[in-house]
Amino acid sequence: MSFAALIRLQQGLAALKADHLERRRLLLDGAQGAHVTINGQRVVSFCSNDYLGLAADPALIAAAHAALDQCGVGAGAAHLISGHHRFHQDFEAAFAHFVGKPAALLFSTGYMANLAVLTTLLGRHGEVFGDKLNHASLVDAAQFSGATFTRYRHGDLAQLESQLAKSGAQDKLIVSDLVFSMDGDIAPVDALLDLAERYDAWLYLDDAHGFGVLNGGRGGLTERARASDRVIYLATLGKAAGVSGAAVAAHAAVIDWLVQRARPYIYTTASPPLLAACLLESLRQIEVGEARRERLRSHIVQLRTGLAGLKLGELMPSVTPIQPLLIGANADAVSASQKLLQRGLLVPAIRTPTVPVNTARLRITLSAAHSADDIAHLIEALHGIAPT
Ligand SMILES: *Cc1c(COP(=O)(O)O)cnc(C)c1O
Repeated sequence: MSFAALIRLQQGLAALKADHLERRRLLLDGAQGAHVTINGQRVVSFCSNDYLGLAADPALIAAAHAALDQCGVGAGAAHLISGHHRFHQDFEAAFAHFVGKPAALLFSTGYMANLAVLTTLLGRHGEVFGDKLNHASLVDAAQFSGATFTRYRHGDLAQLESQLAKSGAQDKLIVSDLVFSMDGDIAPVDALLDLAERYDAWLYLDDAHGFGVLNGGRGGLTERARASDRVIYLATLGKAAGVSGAAVAAHAAVIDWLVQRARPYIYTTASPPLLAACLLESLRQIEVGEARRERLRSHIVQLRTGLAGLKLGELMPSVTPIQPLLIGANADAVSASQKLLQRGLLVPAIRTPTVPVNTARLRITLSAAHSADDIAHLIEALHGIAPT
């Protein structure tokens, strides 16, 4: 029997393929790291978010082995039933202390944490104000919340202020990536906080790419933002922390309310407690990780110095491990990415709709796990493929 909906799916897939928009997954064997085996080829990877090289660190692997013997594999239940393990709780306390907030809550993923915060703090009578370059999970969360969703041009605080001034919403929330995931630039935290104070709004900062890296690993919060009751902080834990999950840190009342009401927290099985044990070890490594961060900083300087005057494109202004090389046309970015792969270097081409049209780029990410030789290899290859 013919099934029309299935046929439409098949036609949709065929259209994506015809337009060269079909996404393919690369197949990884072995551990994540600076050097990986992808689709059977050994390459230097410049695309992971494992900025400190913790994903396969021996101390974290040892923590996983030890926890596995103590608590097995699965959590078995949701946090509000019987799945809330001491490792989860200990991590929450250690994380809150480290980032300088009164309380914290651990989620299975950053996507779910963003969904939880926005849908729980805001309802139909609220309004969310988001930077246009915010991560997709924040866009989805704002839409799912049912609140009015207003976007301001990237970094345009004058526009944000006029939107706030016009708003009649009872609950207002300003949301921003702290380090922008496709550009690598840092949000003006104190200026956003000024606006949040002036217009009595929450300020929610998603620091997926700053936690572990900025300010001794504590992330991109300023002292004022740390101390403010209206600032809610998110760190994701699958990037620099090298494990999985996400933690929200805020005033204790915010955390208590999320435990009571956040459906993406309540109606899901707790993450395996062994992951929380790994996260405790990761937090220790981040705290003492200045040598890793120093290596990362020196890689950033080496790359930016080495690519000055490159004919292929220009590095966007960034002091973070996200170092996008702006190329422009989709086809040029894709072709550069393919040529690099032939030289054993994995650097993804990012195109629309992930970034605005005509800003296709190579999104280079650096890690403390890279060597200076890896960076030199990339610099040489980019000069080698540039038009003469
Ligand atoms: C990766 C990312 C997320 C999602 O976190 P996951 O733990 O991977 O679900 C959220 N926000 C930003 C800015 C991100 O880069």
